Amino acid sequence: MASDKLPDLAEKYKDIPFDDSRVLKYKESAGWEVLLKTAAEVKLVDSEIRALILEMADIMYAAHGVGLAAPQVGHSLRLLVYDAGAGLQALINPHVSKEKGEQYEPEEGCLSIPGLRGVVRRPTQIYVQALNANGHPVRFKARDFEARIICHEVDHLNGILFTERADPKTLHMLTPEEQASEREPAE
Ligand SMILES: [Zn+2]
Repeated sequence: MASDKLPDLAEKYKDIPFDDSRVLKYKESAGWEVLLKTAAEVKLVDSEIRALILEMADIMYAAHGVGLAAPQVGHSLRLLVYDAGAGLQALINPHVSKEKGEQYEPEEGCLSIPGLRGVVRRPTQIYVQALNANGHPVRFKARDFEARIICHEVDHLNGILFTERADPKTLHMLTPEEQASEREPAE
């Protein structure tokens, strides 16, 4: 996604060498089919889950992403991490409902489908209920870019890729040059 929306992350990524090798790639990586599965509820938020959250955060930041869902690293669990510019967030067993609005920008990309971009309609405001990394219930409203990221990642938990939601005529591959310079936020 466009870095001009994310000054904090662009600054952060300056010093992190790009590496997306630990993200499952659609139709390429061994075991990629997990991307199309409905992920299972997390039964217990224990030390294993907290370790997975930290590992996912590490993978997301290395891939210069703004969000990552557990299926993208081979775990079919309802768990996601994201950073919309205000720091790392983890959501476990998230439930999302639309509150209002429609947004079409910025174009979406996905760490599991490198180089592809497209326009996806998302709500401008959602209501989120989930557990946090300590297993405590959280409820909050998310807006704009944060809402877009959460919707994209929750789709992953349901086996849905952004290509299914995108306006087909807007889907396009970045050129190799654009990809090189776009080592920047994607989901
Ligand atoms: Zn994605």
